[in-house]
Amino acid sequence: MDVTLRCRAYPDEETASEAWRHIEIHRQIRNHAIRDYYSHDDGNRPTAYDQHRKLTDWKQRWPLFSEVSAHAAQQTVSEIHKNVETQKGRRKNGHKTGRLKWQGSGERRSVAYQSEGFDVNHTTGQDGYATLRLSKIGYIPIRAHRELPATENIKRVVLKKERTGDWFVCLVTERPDEDLPEKPDPSTLDPVDCVGVDLGILSYIHTSDDTAVDMLDLSDDYDRYGREQRKLDRKEHGSNNWEKQRQTVAAAKRQIKRKVLDYQHKLTTWLVREYDLVAVEDLDVKSMLETSQNAKTKQDAAWSRFLDLLEYKADLHGTHVVRVEPAGTTKECSECGVETSKPLWIREHSCPACGHTEDRDLNAAKNILSRGHEQIGAGRSESTPVQTALSTGTNSVPAKRVVEAGSPEA
Ligand SMILES: [Zn+2]
Repeated sequence: MDVTLRCRAYPDEETASEAWRHIEIHRQIRNHAIRDYYSHDDGNRPTAYDQHRKLTDWKQRWPLFSEVSAHAAQQTVSEIHKNVETQKGRRKNGHKTGRLKWQGSGERRSVAYQSEGFDVNHTTGQDGYATLRLSKIGYIPIRAHRELPATENIKRVVLKKERTGDWFVCLVTERPDEDLPEKPDPSTLDPVDCVGVDLGILSYIHTSDDTAVDMLDLSDDYDRYGREQRKLDRKEHGSNNWEKQRQTVAAAKRQIKRKVLDYQHKLTTWLVREYDLVAVEDLDVKSMLETSQNAKTKQDAAWSRFLDLLEYKADLHGTHVVRVEPAGTTKECSECGVETSKPLWIREHSCPACGHTEDRDLNAAKNILSRGHEQIGAGRSESTPVQTALSTGTNSVPAKRVVEAGSPEA
């Protein structure tokens, strides 16, 4: 599996401006490859291989294209073919997708080097710093909080300029599967080590052992973001002050993104460390957005990234993550299986068939766990002594506590 290490990058002014010029050229290469791709009829469109060969001609016609690393240019071309594949996958799942879009000036913010054209020198500079060399761009000091991988172990390097003006580098290494911890045999799983997670409405998550983790409170951050955005709207577009303010707005937005990501890191780490099996709903984010009254909150939660992170960490920790069919998890009774529909505002599950009563999200989390057990072949989970012992009221855990129980890995 691929493991990504993100580091701050500190290019000097000259290197930064050269890197930005390269990114602009890559944007043009990408746009050109997209135009070429769609100029052929469906069924007759060029493959990545075809377009890599065409690059040679393009470079002759537009010498600018030869000013960037040839390997990086190939990456840029390959990227659109990956995008096309992703779109095909989404269409298979019933999504509507349009054509790939052109990138406007300033929209492209990164350049990627795959396998070649870079190295990392660990011996230069201060502690925690190293120097990244990118072919045709130059030398860039980078800084990481963890040990940097050796050049020969790095598969891919991505240099990115954030809208705030800060530069980052992602170093992607491959961790061989045999180095990953083995996941326990499903038939030997102890019920205490298995958990169902309901991605809730009122709390961020609600687990089958009745832990509710609070939603991250971002209201102050949103207030600040809104305030700075309004200031920006009052400035003359394109002026120096406007540009300054635009960076302030970008910084406020990035602060929100960072907080959410940090929170998700801590939650997912906690789950994979605490349990051997984590069952979650395979949520379609889009349909949630459409049905929710509170789209902004849902977006903050960024469920799909949460699930991706969870699966990524589960592989690193030897934990099973099972995505289960979400339909009906809130309707079904976790005790007897009878379905009763209830509107969103009814927070309690009360079963007309067996009389079982409990919190709506807890009931759903238990159903999710049962489905996870079934799916992985561990049989339907029985109500365990642990579950019974805990089901005497919700332990609403402040986010901070869970976060502290998590790891410093985030
Ligand atoms: Zn029931």
